[in-house]
Parts: sequence; C-alpha cells; structure tokens
Amino acid sequence: MSKKDLKFNSKTIHGGQQPDKAYGAVMPPIYQTSTYAQTTPGGHQGYEYSRSANPTRTALENALASIENGNFGLAFASGLSAMDAVIKLLNPGDEVVSTNDLYGGSYRIFRQIFEKYGITFHFVGMQNVAAIEEKINEKTKLIWVETPTNPMMNVVDLKAVAGLAKEHSVLLAVDNTFATPYLQQPLNLGADIVMHSATKYLGGHSDVVVGALVVKDKELADKLYFIQNASGAVCGPMDSFLVLRGIKTLHVRMQRHCENGEAIANYLKKHPKIEKVYWPGFEDHPNHDIAKSQMKGFGGMISFIPKGSSFEDAVKIVEKLEVFTLAESLGGVESLAGHPASMTHASIPKEEREKSGVVDSLIRLSVGIEDADDLMADLEQAIG
Ligand SMILES: *Cc1c(COP(=O)(O)O)cnc(C)c1O
Repeated sequence: MSKKDLKFNSKTIHGGQQPDKAYGAVMPPIYQTSTYAQTTPGGHQGYEYSRSANPTRTALENALASIENGNFGLAFASGLSAMDAVIKLLNPGDEVVSTNDLYGGSYRIFRQIFEKYGITFHFVGMQNVAAIEEKINEKTKLIWVETPTNPMMNVVDLKAVAGLAKEHSVLLAVDNTFATPYLQQPLNLGADIVMHSATKYLGGHSDVVVGALVVKDKELADKLYFIQNASGAVCGPMDSFLVLRGIKTLHVRMQRHCENGEAIANYLKKHPKIEKVYWPGFEDHPNHDIAKSQMKGFGGMISFIPKGSSFEDAVKIVEKLEVFTLAESLGGVESLAGHPASMTHASIPKEEREKSGVVDSLIRLSVGIEDADDLMADLEQAIG
C-alpha cells in the first residue's frame, strides 16, 4: 500500500516517513550538524550544508507535503519567513490582493517591508469574491487568503477564489494556520501554495516557532526552494523534530479542539453578558454554508464581544482568566486568551482595524484540549 493512499489520520503519522537509514530509528534523529563529510569534492549523500538541506528538516518537509496533499514541502524559521519567501517570487510593480482582517504580522510584512520594494497590496473583504475581482488587473500576480480569518472568523470560498485566480493567471496562496489540513485542504480546492505558521496547531505544544509552505507544482517548488536557500530563513533540526512530533497527534488534538470549541461557542452565545460571538460553526454565521462545504469541522478559535464593554472591561476579563493563559499565539494544547486590539493586531491602525470589526473590546480565544467544563467555569468567573 502506497503511503500516498493513506487516509489523513494515518498520514499524520506515516506520511512521507521512513525509518532512518543509519540504524532504523523510527523517529528521525535530530541531525544537529551544519555540514556533511564528502568523499571527493561534490561526493556526498544528498546533504552538503544544512541551510540547503538537513535530514531532519527533509523528514518534516515530506510530512508537510503529505498531510496537505501536495508534492513538495518547505520548512522555514517562522510562519512570517515562509510568507517572506512567497512574496519574493514577485517583482517591483507587481500587485497582491489580500484580505482586510489579516493576521497582524502578515499585514505588517506586506505594508512595512514589501511596499518599500514597489509591491502594492490591496485589502478587501474576501467573503465577497466580487470584491477580489475588482482589484485584479494586469499587474496582479498573487491572491493571499486567510480562512477562517483572524480574529473575525470570516470564511472565504476557496473554490470560488481559486477559479478567479486561474481565470486571471494569478497565484493563489492560502494561510491555512487556523484550519490545519485536518479541517481544510486548500490544494485540493485549487490553491497553488499553502502556508502555515507551524508554531500553532501543527507544532501544537507552544514550544517552537516554525513556518511551512506546501505546493504541488515542481517549477513553483524549485523557485521557492531557491529563495529558501538563497535567503536562508530555514527551520533548524531540533525545531523540525518538534513539529514532526506534533503532527503525529494533529488529528487527535484537532478533534478535541473542535469539540471544546463547539461547547464554548454555544456557552458564550447563550450568556446574558455576551454581545456577540464569532465562530464559523454557528448556523447564523454569514459564511456558515461555505465553512460547512470546505471544512470538516469548525475548530477551536472563537472571538467574542462582552456586552457594553470598553477596552478596559475586555482587558479586565482576560486578566481574570486562570485556566486560559493571557498570551499571544494559538493552537497549542493549552487554552489561550488574547486581546487583539492591544496584542496580535496592535500593528494595524485602529481605523483600519475597526473597519473589519476588530473593536477595542474584542476578545479572542484559542480553545485548548483541557476538560471543557473547566474552561467554561473559568470564563464564567471572569465574565462574572
Ligand atoms: C502566527 C501566525 C502567522 C505568523 O507565523 P509565525 O510563526 O509567528 O511567524 C501567520 N499567519 C497566521 C494566521 C498566524 O496565526
């Protein structure tokens, strides 16, 4: 049986993996080395310098390709360095269409790093596919999608956007950090590039910062590999090992993230002191039908607004939480709470931020895999 034919829950464990060649180690050893002995100049076993390639990183890259149903995986030092490599495919004068409630760091690298090099970025509400088309012209080279979006949980119709990208010969890249390939596989829906902050669900244990790209096309993979090697923001062997270990339980963790997410979303929705809850699993979520068609579940990311509360009231709630940790990041086994306006999205101007709904009192939860009753009791005492 070819490992390519395995179901997702087996691919997380076996996809792209084989026992180590030296001693048959079942987990790939952490090849903590920068260089490799050669028998004659150029005579090596596929590895010559660890920026170019490292066996532990190769094992992770093969696993990434497998779980996203791609042919090539690339592991980077962080999610943002993976994005950096994608934008470096472009030239001055090129244009990009992206979403207006993008991850704060993505917005920052677009606006404050790459605009300087003559690349133009347009930000639109991508739930409305026509709004994307409006910004496409002959200079457009890339559509950058996040779905569900961070932190407003908007859902973008990936099949429709992929159709649009094909029609205009524009690359489509999808940041799949929130959904993970357990819930959604963008390459299957027509995307060209999948990007991950593997720091989040793929790693899953809040112990590493890593980024990833997965593609199907060989020519595109070669271009990205050239950039990865030439720019050098590679994932180290120890970090590769940790993410590989994380991926092996991705499906089990995601199942629980989804169950706990549903319980907490419903609890918050019924709560008399809560004004609004954002979670794509609600039937009255504006993009629920699309979420249902392209995702296997709705995940553990939830945002909410307490009734009549201000910046200070929201801060008070997140400070009172005890089981939820007040922290940046998401996707780990432990539940985290954040205040986007002062944390993850502080680098987006208030005016820009509020246009897409990221108001001062918005609170974001990354629901972990603890007992849901404990999480609800914690929220209850904090919301009061
Ligand atoms: C965290 C995150 C990133 C950035 O990844 P890093 O690993 O922190 O560099 C990009 N996109 C999304 C959706 C994220 O949550």
